[in-house]
Amino acid sequence: NVRVRFAPSPTGPLHIGGVRTALYNYLFAKKHNGTFVLRIEDTDQTRYVANAEQYIIDSLKWANIPFDEGPHSTTLSASSKNEKFGPYRQSERKEIYKKYVAVLIDKGWAYYAFDTAEALDAERKAHESEGKTFIYNWHNREKGRLVNSLVLTAEETKNRINNGDKYVVRFKSPQDETLVLNDEIRGEIKIDTNVLDDKILFKSDGMPTYHLANIVDDHLMEISHVIRGEEWLPSMALHVLLYKAFGWNTPKFAHLPLILKPIGKGKLSKRDGDKLGFPVFPLAYTNEETGDVSRGYKEDGYFADAFINMLAFLGWNPGTEQELFSLEDLIQEFDLKRVSKSGAKFNPDKTNWFQQQYMQSKSDEELTDLYFSILEEKGIKSDKNYTQKVVSLIKERAVFVADFWDLSSFFFEAPKEYDEKASKKNWKPETGSLMKELIGIIENIQDFSSENAEKEIKEWITAKEIGFGKVMQPLRLSLVGKLAGPHLFDIMEMIGKQETIKRIENAIE
Ligand code: GLU
Repeated sequence: NVRVRFAPSPTGPLHIGGVRTALYNYLFAKKHNGTFVLRIEDTDQTRYVANAEQYIIDSLKWANIPFDEGPHSTTLSASSKNEKFGPYRQSERKEIYKKYVAVLIDKGWAYYAFDTAEALDAERKAHESEGKTFIYNWHNREKGRLVNSLVLTAEETKNRINNGDKYVVRFKSPQDETLVLNDEIRGEIKIDTNVLDDKILFKSDGMPTYHLANIVDDHLMEISHVIRGEEWLPSMALHVLLYKAFGWNTPKFAHLPLILKPIGKGKLSKRDGDKLGFPVFPLAYTNEETGDVSRGYKEDGYFADAFINMLAFLGWNPGTEQELFSLEDLIQEFDLKRVSKSGAKFNPDKTNWFQQQYMQSKSDEELTDLYFSILEEKGIKSDKNYTQKVVSLIKERAVFVADFWDLSSFFFEAPKEYDEKASKKNWKPETGSLMKELIGIIENIQDFSSENAEKEIKEWITAKEIGFGKVMQPLRLSLVGKLAGPHLFDIMEMIGKQETIKRIENAIE
């Protein structure tokens, strides 16, 4: 029974790395008829950002990665209300962690520590001056200078707690053991427990740390596979030890490769987007403290399916040449065995390539609906049929729906200005009278279909024994305003004979 989870901390907007983690979890769950859980890991109150949870949920919704279980007050479907495994916000599970930290202390796997920040600092410095590094584990924990329940009597420990002394609970990491960890992507990893420090599991403010809450929840929520970013690989040893300490079965682990900057070295960061001029967030995000707005894929006009297709390839490949995958195809093909160990370089140009591919594969109807609302906003009156014809003529040149207007405004209104350079070059002294003559020709064309108009106008030009460019360029300038756009006679058929004549007259003036 496959159960996986996406467990973000609501500390700000998800960047594309987080969405990729969610996507891989989702694909894996659906491939194995399993369950995809969203769990909000909000135990670190100091880093909590109020609108982040909603941002995460909205992002998953836009990207079409629905969760089966999750925080139900804001969730996508009513079915996600699952009494057995919820609540899905860690801040609502505090009592549970209290119970489990007590279990670890009872079993001797964890202990209270009362050291102040100053004392720990002094200890660190003392070690440094001898050329050593300080590790809070069996090397030092019972040496007497540290104050914890391993060196205090039970009585002393109890008194301190009752006195309200600040404490943390630490994990008692084992001495001289070699752990053999297994990662679904990375294979076997050996860890010497002597390098592990006694991580803090719980604080006297009643809140667990990430490590404890994460393990307890993965166990209680019956998570079968932990699929998460590589930055959590160093925590895996502790997590496996915690499962052992509790006597629980360990889920399988898969650590996804880092997403790397497109240029230069290192991990893609949340700030890279603004620096390099491309979005790294799924949705635009307003930082409520600073008012800064970061760009998002959605607002920049990317299709969600193109975005997902691009993300799927950041760390996975199907082993074939095929690059275009719908979400359904991805579910079919996805396999952890084909996820790479090494970092995946993020490539914004490739994202645009996917976007372009998806643009061409969308139906004219769908694109027309999208364009229609842009036209309405601009106050342009048009009908669906006409708009759809326009879309079919221009879409091969577009990457985004937002490009449509620049590519097609002349189908809806006469040009407001004429390209200066092109006019200078193509509108000669004799052009005016030539265009007047052309109007006469056009008036006499009975069948104004693109094909027939082309035939008759070209016959006239040929008979006059002048170059095609002498007529066609000024004509295009008159109708479009610049030397661009689809086949000119298609434009003429679309806007009609009267409008064609009117625009030529405008240009002559
Ligand atoms: N809360 C952690 C994060 O923000 C979850 C890591 C994990 O999946 O175990 O990424």
